[in-house]
Amino acid sequence: MKEILEAIYQIQKLDDQIRANQSRLDQIPKNIADIQESLKQSRSRLEEVTRQQNDLAKQRKGLEQEVEQTLANIKKHQTQLLSVKTNKEYSTMLHEIEGEKKKIADIEEQILAIMENLEKLGLQESEEKNVFKLAESQSRGKQQELDREAAAFSAQNDEMKKNKQQALTSLPGDILALYDRIGKARNGIAVVTVRNGACGGCFGNLPTQLLNRIRDMDKVITCENCGRILIWQPPQQ
Ligand SMILES: [Zn+2]
Repeated sequence: MKEILEAIYQIQKLDDQIRANQSRLDQIPKNIADIQESLKQSRSRLEEVTRQQNDLAKQRKGLEQEVEQTLANIKKHQTQLLSVKTNKEYSTMLHEIEGEKKKIADIEEQILAIMENLEKLGLQESEEKNVFKLAESQSRGKQQELDREAAAFSAQNDEMKKNKQQALTSLPGDILALYDRIGKARNGIAVVTVRNGACGGCFGNLPTQLLNRIRDMDKVITCENCGRILIWQPPQQ
């Protein structure tokens, strides 16, 4: 009976490890998705900066064309100025030219403001590029790490499942059925050790008489409170 109890305790430990490994394995795809999401966000921040740069460059080009057009108008009006007949026409034309010069000054101020913004965006762009490059190389590393981790956990689980199958062969059918039944009712934990005179599953105190019977390990003893199988472990383990 002692061997059976020890075997069932080993099986429980294997099941615990298999379950812990599995929950880590289930977590890995989520971790990879998080990494990809943060990379995506970094990329879209960079794209937003580029979009703003293109917008401003386009605005600047339009304004520059307007300056050129206005300069051509000034030239034309200055030529016309030479051939006007009346003082009134002359002053109207002069007024027009003044207006055009004022317009150019306004536009040039706008262009200057755009150039300042473009300069700021240029700095922002190189910053975001660095952030993105770093995120990209880190994410590649992290994904490889997670892939390796997943492979290692998988292999470990296969190994432990094999060990479990082997351990199962030494168990009588009724004990195995009991183990399965308690496990299903108690979140997969059917076997616990005694800790400080209490059940390691529900932490309920165990009577001294029961502790002695558990220590003998010649019978399957379950906790009266939670129904789990109780195993005696020497304190050092
Ligand atoms: Zn208990």
